[in-house]
Order: sequence, then C-alpha cells, then structure tokens
Amino acid sequence: MTKENLGVKSWSTGRAAWVLVLFAFVLSLSLAADKVSAHFGLSDLSANQLDKKDKKDKKEKKDKKKSDDDDDDDDDDDGKDKKKEEKSAKSDSKASVKTESKAKTNAAPNVALMAEKLEAVNATIETDPVPHGGDAADDPAIWVHPQDPSKSTIIGTDKQGGLAVYDLNGKQIQYLADGLMDNVDLRDGFKLGNETASIVAAGNRKDNSIAIYKVNPQTRQLENVAARAIKHGVTAYGMCLYRNAKVGKLYYFATSKSGDVEQWELFDSNGKVDAKQVRKFKVGSVVEGCVADDELGHFYVSEEAVGIWKYGAEPEAGDKRTQVDKVGGGNLVADVEGLAIAYGADGKGYLLVSSQGNYSYVVYRREGNNEFVKRFRVGDGSGIDGAEETDGIDVTTANLGPAFPQGVFVAQDGFNDKGNQNFKLVPLQAILKLGSE
Ligand code: CA
Ligand code: CA
Ligand code: CA
Ligand code: CA
Repeated sequence: MTKENLGVKSWSTGRAAWVLVLFAFVLSLSLAADKVSAHFGLSDLSANQLDKKDKKDKKEKKDKKKSDDDDDDDDDDDGKDKKKEEKSAKSDSKASVKTESKAKTNAAPNVALMAEKLEAVNATIETDPVPHGGDAADDPAIWVHPQDPSKSTIIGTDKQGGLAVYDLNGKQIQYLADGLMDNVDLRDGFKLGNETASIVAAGNRKDNSIAIYKVNPQTRQLENVAARAIKHGVTAYGMCLYRNAKVGKLYYFATSKSGDVEQWELFDSNGKVDAKQVRKFKVGSVVEGCVADDELGHFYVSEEAVGIWKYGAEPEAGDKRTQVDKVGGGNLVADVEGLAIAYGADGKGYLLVSSQGNYSYVVYRREGNNEFVKRFRVGDGSGIDGAEETDGIDVTTANLGPAFPQGVFVAQDGFNDKGNQNFKLVPLQAILKLGSE
C-alpha cells in the first residue's frame, strides 16, 4: 500500500516538472510574439480595428434605437427606460445618496440636477400604488360626488392591467382587471335609459376597444355599460371626452401613435352606451394626451415630440388648428403628455399640461390665445414624494370638502418612492397662489 502510494507520488512529481518546462517555453514564445507585433505596429492595427468595430456597434445601437422609436406597436416605455437610465447615470453621485436614504430602487433621478429649478408644490395625499409594476399607472380622472364632495373619487388607469378607483384619502376602493387601460376620462349628465349618469370611458389597448362605465353614486364604483365591444379604427393610444355643454352630446376622441385622431359620438342604446365614428384627422407624429373644453368647444392634443395643438371639438370642425406651445423654443420639454382644464367662471380658467421631459407642468390661460401663465413642479414633501416623469393629469376647481376646498390637481407619478407607480393629489390653491413667471 505504502509502495503504491510512493510510486504514484514520484510519477506525479515527474509530470509536474514537465508541465513547468512546457509552460516556460510557451511563455517565452508569447513574449517574443508581443515584441514582434509591437515592433511592426500590429497592436496599433488591432486597436484601429477595435475602434472601427466600436463605431459600427454604436451605429447599430443607434439604428436599433431609431427602429424602436419608429415601431408603432412599441410602447413608449422602452425609450423612457433608456432616458431614465441616462438620467440616473448623470445624477449618479447625488442620486445614490438619495436612493440609499430612501432604501428604494425606484427613487426618482435627482430633480435638482435637471436643467430647471422651478417653484414646487407638495402633494397632501397619494393613492395606493397600482397593482402592476414598471411603467403602469398612466392617467387619472376626477369624479365629483353630486351630494357630498368629500366622497369624490379618483379613477386611475393601470395600463398593465385595468382601472382603479380611489377615495380622497388615496385608498383603493375598486379594481377592474378589464384590460390595458391607457387613458381615462369622464363626464356627468349623460342620459342613459331612464337615468342621468356620469360616464367613464377608457381606451383598452388589449383589444383596441372603447371601455365604457357609469359611476354608481351609492357605491362610487364603476359598472360596465358598453353596448358591445366597440373597436377603434386607429390603434388607440390615448383618449379624452368632449361634452357639448349646450346640447349635451358626448364624444370620445381616440389618439394614436400614428398621429391620427378619431372622434366618436357616444349615444344611449336601451340603457347601454354605443358609439359611432364621426370624424378623423391627422395631427402628425405620436399623439396621446388630450382634453376638450366643453364650454368653449376646443379640442387640445399633445403631439408628444412637438407641442400642443388646438382644434375645434365639434365633428364638423375640420383640421384647422393653432399651436398653443411647442418643444424647443417654447415652455415644453418632450414628451408633451397629459392635458387638463381648470374651469373658472365666465369662460376663464386654466389649461394645464405635463411637460414630462423636465418633470414639470405648464399653465396657460383657458380663454383667448392660451397665454402662458407659469410653470411648476410637484416636489418631495414631508412624507409624500414628488411627482416625476408624469404621463396623465387631471384637475377640478370644484370644492371637494375640507381636504381640497378649492379643488385638486392629480398627477401620475413615474417614480413612486414606496412601491409601484401611483397618483399624487395637490390642493389646487397651492398651485394657483404660486407667482406667475
Ligand atoms: Ca410612463
Ligand atoms: Ca406618451
Ligand atoms: Ca401615457
Ligand atoms: Ca415620485
């Protein structure tokens, strides 16, 4: 046994020696080769080749990004994620301190390092996070309770799965997993069968349909009242409603990544809501956010990379338009996203928009030529974080009780510090008392 062991040992020692000699030989060959290549500039050549390869890779990446951007079916999220990554990288040092202190992965890139420092207001309430992670919350709509305004609700889309209803404390009181709802809007006063109902509509990107509900004032929950599966002609992206204040007709505008807009009339059909297309026009490139002024008969739409356009809201208004503001030289940083109208008395009030690229909101006069008023952002408050990279917004000037006596501004928050995305609620008086620029 001992002998055998010894034998094995001496055999291994011998083999190890040979391996060493072989290794030394290979090493000397490799050193010599390096000298030769350095002498003849071969290293430079390979560096050059690498450089070319690098440039080629960059070009391919650029082309890929372009094709992503051009892809009509692709959600905006890819581009956004890249932007987020770039922003995060730029604000790396300070952001990492902030991220650590919050101990969350989804803290916003440092807004202080953004190009502009604007006056900030704070949210006093935030909603429960939407059920789905990633870029999921998108657009809110405010339902004002007809008898007790403090029982009003916020209806918010979860574009990865459905529609949520929140009370004014931000608590979720209903979730409908009905599809990929991107935008939502509502109007009161719709004659539905024998009743007068508040109609809530949303664009469902799962089957490209118009989802239609009514609000049950007792439960404050939504009930499906669509007469049938109503499919858009365009591949729907955003949407908004228009109710002609004089005659009460209700319309649904569908926006799209192709830059087309469709207008549908919604009508009662034996206590359900049906729709027919009454108009179609081309804005240009990607359009999502929109809002209609029911009293003045305007339709405003955000062309995401370009600016805000104002059209007539009636079906026969044609494609005549004026530009309210623009990206580059204006007050907006792309993407131009959600729009909302704060109705004041005598045809006055404000038009608000989310300037998503610099985490801010811009305010214009509602009347006349929509004169620019001011910009603001929703900053980190005590206990509730700010709203960044906002998609959809909504606003009301109605008294919603003690929490929001002069109305409320609601903004989707792209970076909620505690969990999935959600919506932030800001008392409207905080925004209105900000100075004008
Ligand atoms: Ca988003
Ligand atoms: Ca968008
Ligand atoms: Ca959106
Ligand atoms: Ca936030």
